[in-house]
Amino acid sequence: MIQAPRGTYDVLPDDAARREVLEARAAKVLGAAGYRRIETPTFEATELFSRGVGEATDIVRKEMYSFDDGGGRSLTLRPEGTAPVCRAYMEHGMHKLAQPVKLWYLSSFFRAEAPQRGRYRQFWQVGAEAIGSETPETDAELILLLAELLEVLGVGDARLLLSSLGQPETRAEYRDDLRAYLHAHEAELSEDVRERIDLNPMRAFDSSDRGTRAVMAGAPMLLDRLTPEDAEHFARVRELLDDAGLAYELEPTLVRGLDYYTRTLWEFQSSSLGAQSAVGGGGRYDRLIEQLEGPSIPGVGWAAGVERMLMAAGEQPVGTPLVDLYVALAADGGGAVRTGFGLARDARRAGLQAQLELAGRGLKGQLKHADRLKARYVAIVGDRDEVGLKDMESGEQHDTPAANVIPTILRGSRLS
Ligand code: AMP
Repeated sequence: MIQAPRGTYDVLPDDAARREVLEARAAKVLGAAGYRRIETPTFEATELFSRGVGEATDIVRKEMYSFDDGGGRSLTLRPEGTAPVCRAYMEHGMHKLAQPVKLWYLSSFFRAEAPQRGRYRQFWQVGAEAIGSETPETDAELILLLAELLEVLGVGDARLLLSSLGQPETRAEYRDDLRAYLHAHEAELSEDVRERIDLNPMRAFDSSDRGTRAVMAGAPMLLDRLTPEDAEHFARVRELLDDAGLAYELEPTLVRGLDYYTRTLWEFQSSSLGAQSAVGGGGRYDRLIEQLEGPSIPGVGWAAGVERMLMAAGEQPVGTPLVDLYVALAADGGGAVRTGFGLARDARRAGLQAQLELAGRGLKGQLKHADRLKARYVAIVGDRDEVGLKDMESGEQHDTPAANVIPTILRGSRLS
């Protein structure tokens, strides 16, 4: 049998029901703050990501699903949502609207990563972006909204890690110093880190290798080198979080796998998730739109993994929807089927959940099936004008004209 590709999974009905709840809660939390929904295409021009996310990132170097569109143009299944949202912002002239433009999405993303618990090759994220404002209030609002979303979803144990990356120039200078420091300690570093000293020295902070970790404990820190403006911006974000009573831990070595971040950077981690502990995170990206050849427009945003939020929230039982009416067919003549179809359609239009026998069972089998579905009423439709209406709670049954069935159910009256 053909199976789903490695790293992908099927959203089965119970899981779909949980996702619907998540989506409704995200819409409520973000909608209440004036964020409006956006959906961008599943694939984009490859250079949107190579330019936006950064050539040196793992995502661009090895995790993109890229393909030729048949006309010699390279397209890529979106690995993340920020670059596409910024593209859409520019393409639709949203810089002319009142700023910041506040958008959110719930979409699927694609990364060719090694699959493991909580890490898939197609996964879903809820994301929020505020484009067009530099103020620290915007950063704080977005962090608080993610905290609120996690809370209403029941992800109670998430820790917030917070840092600031400053400006790319500060980072470039700092990187040179860090490179020099890493080269001076090359012998003590893991091979993987050593190979990437020049390409991406910041990733050395991410290493789980013991020798590397010991070296990194003494490494220079970017947070100590922020410009006065960036330090003040960061202090203000922290103050706003303090005022809101949201606890965080300063994590000066926080690294996220996307190159476009400037200034504020954060991540929520949940201990219940195992190795892939990040539930969601984000940051400021004041240079991203410029990098995409747009004007200089600042932005800030986050994304949170749907699978990981559901996992961290624990299995919450989902109720199967109640069946109000099961239409059983007591005869297979055209008249019975016609009446049955009409009855089910009218019940659905009246807002009831109605199901019709579709498997050709005998009457006894149909009643058993209706019982399994926990149907509230069964209408037994034969060749006669009247139908038998059975109250499955009391077990009572009486004959009534078909036109009476729906009003009776809507009244919820007991049959006598
Ligand atoms: P990122 O876009 O890398 O900042 O990731 C944001 C969030 O998306 C993470 O905190 C995870 O919850 C989720 N995420 C990222 N990559 C994956 C993946 N391969 N599978 C499942 N969830 C993911």
